[in-house]
Amino acid sequence: MCRKLTEDERVERNERKRERLRLLYIANAELYRARAAKRYVEKREEIRARARHLRAINPEKERASARRWAAANSARVLARVISWAAANVDKVRATKKRWVVKHAEKDRAAKRRYKKEHPEKVREYTNQRRARKRGARGVCSAVQTAARIAYYGGNCAYCRILPYEHIDHVIPLSRGGSNWPANLRPSCAKCNLSKGGKLLSEWSQ
Ligand SMILES: [Zn+2]
Repeated sequence: MCRKLTEDERVERNERKRERLRLLYIANAELYRARAAKRYVEKREEIRARARHLRAINPEKERASARRWAAANSARVLARVISWAAANVDKVRATKKRWVVKHAEKDRAAKRRYKKEHPEKVREYTNQRRARKRGARGVCSAVQTAARIAYYGGNCAYCRILPYEHIDHVIPLSRGGSNWPANLRPSCAKCNLSKGGKLLSEWSQ
């Protein structure tokens, strides 16, 4: 006799069926994978169109699944981003430019913060730019500049009283002086401006 299954019995039967299929799949994983790969090759367009369709009707689900995938594959995502950026330098640059235009105030604030937190970098950059501009020989790293400042106890190397504010070129760049550390001295603004483009022998403090 055949009687109607109760709801519980139906659920149990389905569970058992699923479990059988799961074990079957595990036992024949290679076969199933090969079959799926073959099917994908044969019906590639159809499968992709179906996936596209599912994505289109479930955008929320699609976004959530993309996020999950990205979180689980962060190394691959990063590698992909880096290689894309390397191949699209112009686009990256344009995007950065757009960001700066759109967030001008934020950008300025970030630059101000960086300058305040890294005065030695600012000095190094300023020195190098000036040296480049005049084609001067020599370079002075941030560490070397800091050593020059420390040597004079943080004061002006000329008046020895006021705290230093500028880095002076003893032989001015305009007179062929170099940007090597030996030609650099910390100087207060007053001495630096008064010395200007003069040599030490021409300058009366
Ligand atoms: Zn001074």
